[in-house]
Amino acid sequence: VSAGAGARRRRLVGWGFEGERLEPTPELERWLEARCGRGAGRPAPDPATIELPPPRPLPEIPAATSRDPLDRLAHARGQGLPDLLRLRDGRLPTAPDAVVRPADTDQLARVLEVSAEAGIVVVPWGGGTSVTGGVNPPPGERPVISLALDHLSGLLELDAGSGLATFGAGTAGPALEAALAPHGLTLGHFPQSWELSTLGGWIATRSSGQESLGYGRIEDMVAGLELVAPGGRLDLPPLPASAAGPDLRHLVLGSEGRLGVVTRATVRVRPRPPATVVEALLVPGWEAGLEAVRRLARSELPLTLLRLSDPPETEVAVAAGLAHRFGAGAARWWLRRWGVGRDACLLLVGTAGEPEVARGVLRCARRLLGGLGALRLGTRPGARWLADRFRHPYLRDALLDGGIATDTLETAGPWSALDRIREAVTDALLGGAPGGRAAVLCHLSHPYRDGASLYFTFFVPSEADTDAAVAAWALMKRAATEALVTAGGTVSHHHGVGAWHAPWLPREVGDTGMELLGRAAEAMDPDGVLNPHVLLDPTDRLESA
Ligand SMILES: Cc1cc2nc3c(=O)[nH]c(=O)nc-3n(C[C@H](O)[C@H](O)[C@H](O)COP(=O)(O)OP(=O)(O)OC[C@H]3O[C@@H](n4cnc5c(N)ncnc54)[C@H](O)[C@@H]3O)c2cc1C
Repeated sequence: VSAGAGARRRRLVGWGFEGERLEPTPELERWLEARCGRGAGRPAPDPATIELPPPRPLPEIPAATSRDPLDRLAHARGQGLPDLLRLRDGRLPTAPDAVVRPADTDQLARVLEVSAEAGIVVVPWGGGTSVTGGVNPPPGERPVISLALDHLSGLLELDAGSGLATFGAGTAGPALEAALAPHGLTLGHFPQSWELSTLGGWIATRSSGQESLGYGRIEDMVAGLELVAPGGRLDLPPLPASAAGPDLRHLVLGSEGRLGVVTRATVRVRPRPPATVVEALLVPGWEAGLEAVRRLARSELPLTLLRLSDPPETEVAVAAGLAHRFGAGAARWWLRRWGVGRDACLLLVGTAGEPEVARGVLRCARRLLGGLGALRLGTRPGARWLADRFRHPYLRDALLDGGIATDTLETAGPWSALDRIREAVTDALLGGAPGGRAAVLCHLSHPYRDGASLYFTFFVPSEADTDAAVAAWALMKRAATEALVTAGGTVSHHHGVGAWHAPWLPREVGDTGMELLGRAAEAMDPDGVLNPHVLLDPTDRLESA
């Protein structure tokens, strides 16, 4: 089974592509071991040996339908930590009964019709990179099909004069950028999952790319789209702006398949910049870092990226070899003297454009940081970060092999709440960790004028028993999500709600908001065919994830 990136074959148990790996440096291993120790190593099994429940009978489906066990396995799980743990267990409690690949929109509409008649659950599948249980088949009696959008992909239309490009929803990041490159254009949407995730998935989850400060979030990029549902079709034309009532694109953005399947979208594209440059700096402490990011985010400088690591993440970045040219012993000693390992925080500042202009922008950025005591590390660590940014997820698999489980969670809040949120989530993760042993890292990214996103990574020793490991994860996840919502953060800045965050959505949108969304889902999908378990079903399913 391959996915969207040339001849590279998608790995079925873990991240990315077969044969590609990223190992922790010995220094990172030592750092992690000192803080969280090690649990039971879990080798990834041969995918062919993983047991799936037998496929249930299905009626004739009017599109290409695969019952092949490896295809079912490839569409059984997303990429959250419990997904990786269950796959490594060698036995999955749920799997789709078939993988269906419609050739076009009309076929897709007929598949939805048949599914509604037969009581089948349909789970749309873009790149399967969900970290919220969004693509996992719900447990229950109803048969489940995974609706793979592989054939609804590619560049369909380009209006270069208007900077508008229409793509099939199943187009993955590399294919999308490769189609724009000959025209000197880019979308500029680079989530860390870019190599595997798709345009339809980005829209369905309201995704945010790493350079959202310059290019915007996916909702800023989508000009028009088509949505197909059992209850009807929405065809929203690309318009630069409109006062024709509420903006229905925003009902579709973040609807996670509950309101229909996004089949194509017209996105706003722009000239591909000749260079993207990221400069690294060290700032003396989180407070100084916050002030630095706030100043830069509110400046009118054309920056594309701002990312502030807290002291533990800064230490990990150095241990993992980010500060490349500081690998030599004397330089490391000097970095430690400067505060790495105590208070120092790594700040990445990125911009894109003509190289001279980019250099000028970074010069102005440094000037704005005057008085904060920032130390300039130059653009080489930034170049290293850019080169490796889509490889970092491979580290999760290597760490699991060695008995360390890792997961991430994220939120956003106003500037005034960020310290409170960071503290509350860190305490909740440390408090919920098995035996109190965990390492918790945090960075601030995606800054806005009024606030920013906080992104947490935690490491724990992995339990030998899979149910116990998932239960330990569930405890931490629940405590951290409760903490971030209570402290004033959103339940998700960019991963979406899926099944795992759904219990907290009512806290954010209220009863009336839930009812409004529920009625929209009823109108578009009266029989509850599409993803009935995500977004609107507040059942807490963390232990059974
Ligand atoms: C290592 C890693 C890094 C990540 N980094 C980022 C990041 O930087 N920024 C970010 O925003 N997210 C990130 N994510 C989360 C994830 O990649 C995003 O949620 C992404 O938008 C999902 O896209 P996908 O194509 O893989 O969708 P899938 O995982 O296939 O689907 C996600 C949800 O949307 C539904 N869906 C998919 N396609 C459609 C469609 N065409 N119509 C209707 N519903 C659909 C699915 O049923 C599911 O509920 C990361 C995930 C991982 C594992």
